[in-house]
Amino acid sequence: MRIGQGIDIHAFGPGDHVVVGGVRIAHARGVVAHSDGDVAIHALCDAILGALALGDIGRHFPPSDERWRGANSRIFLRRCAELMRERGFTLGNADVSIVCEAPKIAPHADAVRANLAADLGCTVDQVGIKATTSEKLGFSGRGEGIAAFAVVLLVARHSGESRNPALARDS
Ligand code: MG
Repeated sequence: MRIGQGIDIHAFGPGDHVVVGGVRIAHARGVVAHSDGDVAIHALCDAILGALALGDIGRHFPPSDERWRGANSRIFLRRCAELMRERGFTLGNADVSIVCEAPKIAPHADAVRANLAADLGCTVDQVGIKATTSEKLGFSGRGEGIAAFAVVLLVARHSGESRNPALARDS
C-alpha cells in the first residue's frame, strides 16, 4: 500500500463562482488561478502523485503551459488516475477536506463525490468529502481564499501468489 497527501490553496479574486470537485458553485468572488482553480482536485492530484512518488501537479501540468489556461481540472485528475493504474495501483480510498468561510460546500458534497469517483474510476463510497470553516481565523477566515487537504491510500494490484494475505481476505 502507498499513502499520499496533498494541499492546495487559491486566493479569491474577481468572478462569480468557484469550481470545487468539478462542481460550479455560485460565489461573490472567483479564484485566481491558471486553470479553473479547483482546490479539491489539485489537492487530490498531489496526494495521488505523492503516493506514487512522482512529484507534484506543477511538474505534470505546469502553469507556464498555455494548454492548461482555464483548463478543467478533471483532466488532471483523470491523468493522475491513469498514472496510478499504469504503475499497478488501484485506489483504496480518498479523503478530501475543504476549508473556506464561504461558499457552503456541504450542499454540493454528493455531486463532488460523484465527479471524483467517476474520474478516479472508483465507487462513491471510496471518496470522502468534508468541509469546514476556520472560525474566521487566518486567510480563509477573512474570506481571502479557499484551501483543500487530501489523503489517499493506493493499493497494489498483486498477482495470485505474491498477493498479500491480509488484502486477499477482504476481496
Ligand atoms: Mg491549485
